[in-house]
Parts: sequence; structure tokens; C-alpha cells
Amino acid sequence: MTIHFDCTQCGKCCHDLRLTLSVDEAITWAGRGHTVQILSEALPWPADPEPETPQSAYDKARSFPGMSGEIPVRIAIALVAYHEGPCPHLQPDMRCGNYEARPRICRIYPLERRPLTDWTPQDRLCPPEAWNADLPVLTRDGEIAYPEAAGIIEAHRRIALEDVPDLATACEALGVNRAAFANEGLAVHAPDPHVLAKTLQSVRDGKAPPAARRNWTIVTNRKETLALLQQSGCHADLVSQGPGYLGSFPDEP
Ligand code: SF4
Ligand code: SF4
Repeated sequence: MTIHFDCTQCGKCCHDLRLTLSVDEAITWAGRGHTVQILSEALPWPADPEPETPQSAYDKARSFPGMSGEIPVRIAIALVAYHEGPCPHLQPDMRCGNYEARPRICRIYPLERRPLTDWTPQDRLCPPEAWNADLPVLTRDGEIAYPEAAGIIEAHRRIALEDVPDLATACEALGVNRAAFANEGLAVHAPDPHVLAKTLQSVRDGKAPPAARRNWTIVTNRKETLALLQQSGCHADLVSQGPGYLGSFPDEP
């Protein structure tokens, strides 16, 4: 399958989005006073899956170990720039006012940042005319036609994994200890941007105490999931959709 694409500069991808940032990108973004959220999810992990699959190897690489009650878990953290409406760097003519220093994720779109994840143009915000067959080839049989873009994606994925130990330390320093049950949602933490930037910088500088294997509360908005988690010995809590929880399922009555 061949995907053709050219950006129409409609600006949709610069509105109402959560942009996945590396630690260094988040230090810069939050240091300017812009909102960076911490999204957390917990994967119950009593033992490494046997046999290991590409997905389980990736889940292990993108997470760090913790406990929830009596149960070993792995915690996956994402730092995301968050803005309602336009990005603070978006100019009235829909051009980026931060073009030279824009995060890698902005350079990747509409390509997929995550490994092992299929995507189609229908998943993206770009308008239909951005995908016309007479436009340049973006991907052919899953291969990216632009070596520079492929290199940025490779760097984005590699740095995301390299950042995991520092994200564990930052959670410890910030007191973040709640995570959503994986594949059901994401817990959202919104520290003050300047506090976050300072904390991440001190982690980068090696000044923060190393992360302990801390105890996590797993949150869900599904009563059946809550009961299963509690029966298995996890610390678990029922939450509702809202600023602190982005659930894949609606709240139950
Ligand atoms: S940094 Fe630039 S490219 Fe990225 S979302 Fe903001 S305006 Fe868009
Ligand atoms: S949504 Fe797509 S077409 Fe519109 S500015 Fe972003 S990349 Fe370009």
C-alpha cells in the first residue's frame, strides 16, 4: 500500500492535542510556563511473559518496576505538552512560531510515533486533500519514503526508552503514585510547569534521589476492573472521567 501526502498547513494538528515530549523537550516546554502533563498507566506484571513477544518486550522497555499492594507492576509514563485550542506557538497564519525548536513529535506528524502500531490516513486530522494520489509518496508498504523523517522517528522512540529511568526518578520526586489500569485509560497529573521543569532538570543533573520501587494505586472507572484488582491484592481506586483520568470507557452509573 502506498500513502501519498503533502501538508496543507491547515493547523489542525496544532490544536487541542497532547504532544509526547522527551524529558529534555519537556524541560524546555514547561520552563516557558506551558502545561506539560504526566500520563501514567500501570501494567500488572507478576513475571516476565513467556515466551516474550515483541509487544511484551516493548511494554517492558517503556516502563519501570513498582508495586501495587502485593502485586508487582510496571509503570509507563508519558510527558505531554497539553493545550486547549491552539498551541501557544501557533501563529495566526497557522505557521509554527517555534519552527526551529519544535518537538520531534511535531516533525513526525502524521507518521506514527509508536512502534508495533498500524495507522491509516483516517486516523489522522489532516484533511482529505492532504492525501491525494498525485502528491509525493509518504510511505510505501509501511516504509517511510523520507530518510530524515525515519531518522526522527527512530530518535523519538530511542529517547523515549532512554528516558524511562529519569521518569521513574521524577515520579518519586513529584510524589506521583497513581496510574490507570493499562489499556483502559490514562491517569493525568498536572504539576506546576516551573516545578516540573526544575524537577526534571534536577533529575537530569543527577541531583534527585534515585527512584525507589514505590507503591502505586491503580485507578479505573470500571467497577468490574476495580473488583478484580482488589481481589488480586492491588491498591486500587474508582475514579471518574475528568481532568485527572482519561478513560477509554464511559463512567458506569
Ligand atoms: S510547536 Fe509548532 S508545530 Fe508543534 S504544535 Fe506548536 S505550533 Fe504546531
Ligand atoms: S493536520 Fe496534517 S495537513 Fe494539517 S497542518 Fe497538520 S500535518 Fe499539515
